[in-house]
Amino acid sequence: SVSIDSIRRSYGSTPVLRGVSLSIADGEFLTLLGPSGCGKSTLLRVLAGLEVQDAGSVRIGERVVDDARPKRRDVAMVFQSYALYPHMTVASNMALPLRMRRLSAFQRFPFFGRLLPGTSQIAADIELEVTRTAKSLGIGHLLARKPGQLSGGQRQRVAVGRAMVRHPAVFLMDEPLSNLDAKLRVQMRAEIKELHKRLGVTFVYVTHDQAEAMTLSDRVAVMLDGELLQVAPPQTIYADPDERRVAEFIGSPK
Ligand code: ATP
Ligand code: MG
Repeated sequence: SVSIDSIRRSYGSTPVLRGVSLSIADGEFLTLLGPSGCGKSTLLRVLAGLEVQDAGSVRIGERVVDDARPKRRDVAMVFQSYALYPHMTVASNMALPLRMRRLSAFQRFPFFGRLLPGTSQIAADIELEVTRTAKSLGIGHLLARKPGQLSGGQRQRVAVGRAMVRHPAVFLMDEPLSNLDAKLRVQMRAEIKELHKRLGVTFVYVTHDQAEAMTLSDRVAVMLDGELLQVAPPQTIYADPDERRVAEFIGSPK
């Protein structure tokens, strides 16, 4: 589970997160839905450890992670821009988190590092994991290409694959489909839903697209101006908004 307790964050004197609290169950698909600039990405970056909150606390699983660096949080993030390395192949992009993990194991435990399996064995394990993951995403035939030689949807799958190889307990996805055209977006939406079902882990998903939030989510957290207005299943948000601002944003009858 993920537990977010009274998170505050300001840029200069501008508050961007004004005391956000939220509990997310194991295996839940939770979507942060809100207009541009309301603080969705900032909250996700705080969860990932890419940004430090001014106040409040984050627990992931049994562990309070406030002082934990991103790599040590058991989360993986898929960025809106995909953040792939253009000079590296798809295979290398996907293998990167595993290679980094191995490198940091050596740095932290130089002695035990020498007791780890040989380099070629580890390289083979990484290759196997990357190949298997790529196949499961339908990009097995693209491993030797570079990101510049891929379509938007293919790039998006590579970014998802790179997150998957770490087998994180929590996936953080920041508008992963926003760079795709409308038709592909709907198709990839179904793939993300399928992925969540297959992996059974927690997804925290960010979008400002209502249809996306409504079809994907177990619960939707409606965010406005750095606050969560309502956290509830999509149907409840739509049919029974807590307040006028939610109803207005959703465009529901109330
Ligand atoms: P979008 O849907 O457009 O991605 P968002 O909900 O993800 O929006 P954030 O990126 O979290 O919004 O930004 C929230 C607010 O914080 C915005 O007003 C933004 O201008 C501001 N902001 C974000 N990052 C910084 C920064 N590094 N320095 C100053 N202000 C920032
Ligand atoms: Mg954003």
